[in-house]
Amino acid sequence: MTFALPIVDQPSPARDAPAGESFDDWRWQLRNRITTKQDIAARLALTPEEEAGLEAAPGHFRVAITPYYFSLIDRDHPSCPVRIQVIPRARELEIEPGDLVDPLGEDSHSPATGIFHRYPDRCLLLALDRCAIYCRHCNRRRLVGQEESPISREDLAQALDYIRRTPAIRDVLISGGDPLTLSTARLEEIIAALRAIPHVEIVRIGTRVPVVLPMRVDDELCAMLKKYHPLYVNTHFNHPRELTPRARAACEKLADAGIPIGNQTVLLRGVNSSVRVLRKLFTELLRCRVRPYYLFQGDVAAGTSHLRTSVETGIALMQELRGHISGLAIPHLVIDTPGGMGKVSIGPDYVVARGPDKWTLRNYEGKLVDYPQPADKDATCAYDEIYFGA
Ligand SMILES: *Cc1c(COP(=O)(O)O)cnc(C)c1O
Repeated sequence: MTFALPIVDQPSPARDAPAGESFDDWRWQLRNRITTKQDIAARLALTPEEEAGLEAAPGHFRVAITPYYFSLIDRDHPSCPVRIQVIPRARELEIEPGDLVDPLGEDSHSPATGIFHRYPDRCLLLALDRCAIYCRHCNRRRLVGQEESPISREDLAQALDYIRRTPAIRDVLISGGDPLTLSTARLEEIIAALRAIPHVEIVRIGTRVPVVLPMRVDDELCAMLKKYHPLYVNTHFNHPRELTPRARAACEKLADAGIPIGNQTVLLRGVNSSVRVLRKLFTELLRCRVRPYYLFQGDVAAGTSHLRTSVETGIALMQELRGHISGLAIPHLVIDTPGGMGKVSIGPDYVVARGPDKWTLRNYEGKLVDYPQPADKDATCAYDEIYFGA
């Protein structure tokens, strides 16, 4: 590898890396990803756990870090939240009882290559197996990072065919791998093909590019995407340290193209399992016009148990959010259940007692309050028959 990583001083919070000739070229970033123990060790002092992880983990799940994302690592502290997300540690090789290779049962809900169809009205379309970086908490590690190639034209044609002949599908989520690492032209082919299917009402893109490769969100990409509204983007910020000027600009650009942006955070032990971090992350996301959507309890993907928290931790954190910060900043805490039973929303229980004429609730300060309810429980909307037809 021939490039030298730009020198960044590392005050906290992380500063964005300085602009370099190629640093702001997203293809340069992908070509110059840091992928080996040797490359990483040349840039920071590895801990013994990281050394062991880097020796063994890549045989199980590959390592790749864009120079940009690498520049956000605090090289003095192994507990850096960016570092933990991309540098494997020895514990990645430990498999706990209950861990699964396919934690969400996706493979058994796949009616065509590249399609996961678990809910009645929406499905996932996996467009490629490449990501810009490989997250150590990846739940699709069995699939991604192998060939680093887009779905073949043949498989894509069959996947589109499945969506075409399944009129119940209103909502298609393009995921992967990271769809925004495709060329704009290739991505447009996929989106345009979906948009040509009359029953596909909305298209969503799941991507970590604004976080790990923000220079990819360029004018060309935004000009293409805005032709295909209603189009939604869900991204994946896990820590406020990731909200650099470049990352913020990427989100603003997408928002300026009229794209509503949501964020899916994975609750990661020692990375963002703190009230201070989550409050800061979610309120800062709103400032960039990104709406926190889901906070996931860690999936039971084999090799990720050291990054998971207990369910009690997740619920206790939610309790410190609701009421304390804008409702707009509060995501749903969900467990994507093992084996493909779907997402289940969980959270603190604010109901203290349920009576026929009143419920007793606990507010965010722990104070009790009654909500009286009507005796008549009938909630029929008589106009429905007229509006929807009998
Ligand atoms: C998460 C997921 C969806 C989308 O779920 P929403 O709750 O609508 O965001 C759809 N299909 C699959 C297979 C999923 O895992």
